[in-house]
Amino acid sequence: MNMIKSSTIEAKKLNHFELRLKQTTVYQEADTLQSGAATLQLSAEIWIDAQMLDEPHTVSVNAVLRSLAKVNSPDGGGRWDFVFTCACGNPSCACIYEGVGALRGEESIDWVLRRPQANRFGTGVLAFKQWCETSQWQGYRFDVDQANAELIRFLDEVAVVINTSDMPIANESQVLIWFEDDPRLSQSSQSSDQVGDAA
Ligand SMILES: [Zn+2]
Repeated sequence: MNMIKSSTIEAKKLNHFELRLKQTTVYQEADTLQSGAATLQLSAEIWIDAQMLDEPHTVSVNAVLRSLAKVNSPDGGGRWDFVFTCACGNPSCACIYEGVGALRGEESIDWVLRRPQANRFGTGVLAFKQWCETSQWQGYRFDVDQANAELIRFLDEVAVVINTSDMPIANESQVLIWFEDDPRLSQSSQSSDQVGDAA
């Protein structure tokens, strides 16, 4: 009957979490903008212990924010998030049917995932078996305070870029949604005005 909390399992080395902002200049052909106008596309990369987690998929910033949120109390069951997804936002387009599992301890969060994230064998049971046999489980442990500080630093950097960029943000509506999962919003309920300034 003894439940072992993940935080009390033998001390595991902590991994260092980083969310790096990637800025890409995109030349628009859209009718709404002057043809050839330069815009800035914002995206994120996950770096762990100074190495990029180089799954060839779009990182869902909102999924990362929810996965590593400090506010959710440890529930023992953990949660799955589609941290990697298709550029359109639907992970199944990218053959991703199982996301990244997050298990919360008192002071740390474990991430478990299979790599590659894409199961290119298909959606059937045999395909799942083949994927399991050919993919590799990977586990990381982050300090919850380090990860949350990094998420806040990332969002602050994004806000500065939005406010100071000479170029329009190509995916601005998508980027503004990132702020809906700002860890600071759930820590104090009346701080929603932190977000509005981003535009
Ligand atoms: Zn898609």
